[in-house]
Amino acid sequence: MRILVTGGAGFIGSHLCAALLQEKNYVVCLDNLSTGRIDNLAPLIGNPQFEFIQHDLIQPYVTEADRVYHLACPASPVAYRSNPVRTVKTNVLGTMNMLGLARRTGARILLAGTSEVYGDPKVHPQPESYLGNVNQLGPRACYDEGKRIAETLMMEYHREHKVDIRIARIFNTYGPRMQGDDGRVVSNFILKALGNKPPELYGDGTQSRSFCYIDDMVAGLRSLMEYTGPLRHEPFNLGNPHEVTVRELAARITALAGATSQPVFKPAQQDDPARRCPDISRAYKELAFEPRIGLDEGLRRTIEWFRTH
Ligand code: NAD
Ligand code: UDP
Repeated sequence: MRILVTGGAGFIGSHLCAALLQEKNYVVCLDNLSTGRIDNLAPLIGNPQFEFIQHDLIQPYVTEADRVYHLACPASPVAYRSNPVRTVKTNVLGTMNMLGLARRTGARILLAGTSEVYGDPKVHPQPESYLGNVNQLGPRACYDEGKRIAETLMMEYHREHKVDIRIARIFNTYGPRMQGDDGRVVSNFILKALGNKPPELYGDGTQSRSFCYIDDMVAGLRSLMEYTGPLRHEPFNLGNPHEVTVRELAARITALAGATSQPVFKPAQQDDPARRCPDISRAYKELAFEPRIGLDEGLRRTIEWFRTH
């Protein structure tokens, strides 16, 4: 198949491109390199089945495709808040451009949606039926509301133009090639631990997240794309339901990296979700999706990657 991966030079996208190439697909990666890096694609450059095109999705792009994995969007709070209007444009105009491409070519399109559509959730764990608790005026809104309208666009192009859509709601994902400077908790804590410096906890560290290793996420995204069952046009939570507090995460990373530093506390961030954990029963039942890499093993691999890079 000819597969377009938008945001393919980013963390998740570069792993996805590599996995798709292993199965003899022709992969076209479209990326403006705003938060992604060409280095992430180094092992793929030179492969005759792979093409990299530097392009900003806010502008339309014309090509043929059988599948479109639409991942392009800054993902960390630091990155998406650094240029919030651009984040909204990427989600609205970028998604419309890719849906237009899918409509014209008949390609199936998968949106990399997010657990952030649930905002600071009042229901725990979060099933796909939960409509969320999002502050549309807050500092996270450019991303949260951007991803919510992206889902709306997906659904309307499906209803109105019969585009064959898939919607993944991705929960916190980590692994090698995360950017070291984008402020995400796993990379922040690993870099601190490797320098034997104290991890900084925003607030009291009792807020929770559920972390999914990259290989499990790539497997889930691919299963969802090729799923043809009755719920195929509905959203799917993808993530690892093992929930930990940020404080516990800091302790584990510090120990696994062999550091001895103690955490320090910084002011809590506005609208920081207090708890987050996916209900993955839909993905388990329909896709046989079951994360295989536990937190300690995934963290060990990620720490090792940061150590050597
Ligand atoms: P990333 O920042 O590493 O990758 C995003 C990629 O999109 C980058 O390569 C960037 O250069 C590219 N991009 C951004 N705006 C673009 C534009 N206008 N035109 C073309 N390219 C553009 O982030 P990631 O962690 O790999 O996330 C990938 C996708 O998964 C994003 O859509 C994100 O919202 C979603 N997601 C990620 C997580 C996570 O924990 N990593 C969680 C939920 C959702
Ligand atoms: N966090 C923290 N210290 C850091 C970075 C993040 O305590 O150095 C917290 C942050 O406040 C949030 C959680 O860790 O509660 C996850 O943050 P991240 O930015 O990785 O992702 P998101 O908030 O989008 O889940």
